[in-house]
Amino acid sequence: MRIKTFLLTFLPILCLAPAVLAEGLPDLGEVSQADFSPIMEKHVGETIMREIRLHEPSYVFDPEISGYLNRLGARLVANSADARQDFEFFMLRDATLNAFAMPGGYIGVHSGLIMAAQSESELASVLAHEISHVTQHHLARQIGAQSQAQLPMLLSLAVAILAARAHTGGDVAQGALMAGQAASIQTQLNYSRDFEREADRLGIQLLERSGYDTRGMGSFFERLQKFGRLYENNAPGYLRTHPLTTERIADIGNRIQSLPYRQVPDSLDFLLVRAKLKAGEGTPQDAVAEFTSQLHERKSTSEVAMRYGLAVAYSRAGNYTAAEQELVQMPRLKASSAMFELLAADLRRKQQDLPGALKILRTALVRYPQERAVTYALIDTLLAASQAQEALRICQDDLQMYPSDAYVQGLLAKSYAALGMHLQQHRAQAEVYVLQGLLLEAISQLQLAQKASDGDFYEHSQVDARLRELKVKQAAEAKPKKQDKQDKP
Ligand SMILES: [Zn+2]
Repeated sequence: MRIKTFLLTFLPILCLAPAVLAEGLPDLGEVSQADFSPIMEKHVGETIMREIRLHEPSYVFDPEISGYLNRLGARLVANSADARQDFEFFMLRDATLNAFAMPGGYIGVHSGLIMAAQSESELASVLAHEISHVTQHHLARQIGAQSQAQLPMLLSLAVAILAARAHTGGDVAQGALMAGQAASIQTQLNYSRDFEREADRLGIQLLERSGYDTRGMGSFFERLQKFGRLYENNAPGYLRTHPLTTERIADIGNRIQSLPYRQVPDSLDFLLVRAKLKAGEGTPQDAVAEFTSQLHERKSTSEVAMRYGLAVAYSRAGNYTAAEQELVQMPRLKASSAMFELLAADLRRKQQDLPGALKILRTALVRYPQERAVTYALIDTLLAASQAQEALRICQDDLQMYPSDAYVQGLLAKSYAALGMHLQQHRAQAEVYVLQGLLLEAISQLQLAQKASDGDFYEHSQVDARLRELKVKQAAEAKPKKQDKQDKP
């Protein structure tokens, strides 16, 4: 029933700038009115996630930051008795304070919220609150049975509004109409005080069990409430979806008062992610000036994070030598992180030193085998260095472990292309599209694979079989839609 959690928490971000309407409603498949099975939830979540990845301008593919959010989220989820599904955490580059959950366990966090958190426990408190809304099926319980019939329409509408953010030149009037509808749906769906209180209560439990400072929730929510007063009617998204009343703040205060005080230092990752986001703001010169002054005035307690931020800023400004000079100080500061190695390799690449970059990344992969960003950078750099055979081998090994990683699947297709293996290239590219839910594109790639002059009998048979399989799947999904399209002039 988590399908509805999405609507409640998701619509607010949709309402930020829905200027125009997309051409057609994205295909959500046949959502049955009464039965929202976990599979259907996953399907709906994936569909919306696909729209976000493909069309949402604020979605940034940053494997370092999403890697961090997923580690933080996984630590909380691991301590929830009710979490029975996978979660995926991702960031949108958006200065407003917002976080939201979607069906299928997708939880989005705005960069503005990460920047506004003054400690890792504060950031964790928002994630814990969101996770609790999901595990408690709050939206399902809120909507109640009588409105369930509307749900497929509401979901399509929400996805359309999301898509509309990315498109221009559409029907503005209809876009405005959709925005109005979305706003009314949102009002209808605002979480009740009881659900907010329950998400707070369970969120505090998650924080406590996961070893974070529960006072983080009190301090953060109190600051968020103050922001809210300043904004008045134009409150940031998080406050609109999760109304922060004085009563709620007092409630949180009472709960955490009884818990033992715990001083929890921020992880280095948290500090580095914030430094990276900060270093990406404004002009490169502004960013260099900001971190230089921070270092001189010792504004932050973490010299490591300040120096890393300065290195990122120097890199943006094209001053690669200065950036490297900041990074070489990390061992002296007894700090190590995959983020340093990734930046160091990137700086080597920007100075046309591909062997230097590869050396750093090969060592980093041994040291941080779980860090997806390192694997991505190594394969990508191997391809840039015309070492496609090794890139191919790493892709194949990696996909054994992470078969649904569309990014590595894409690098696999690039590796085949670099090696002139056309059948395999199109076959791999087809699987990228399958993972992205783009069946028509996948089918046309397999048709290209069929026409490829290379490949043996066995490989061609595999392509034929996969093509048949996808055509059946596509036909099943497209049936109700096709009629619709034929009706149009
Ligand atoms: Zn809430």
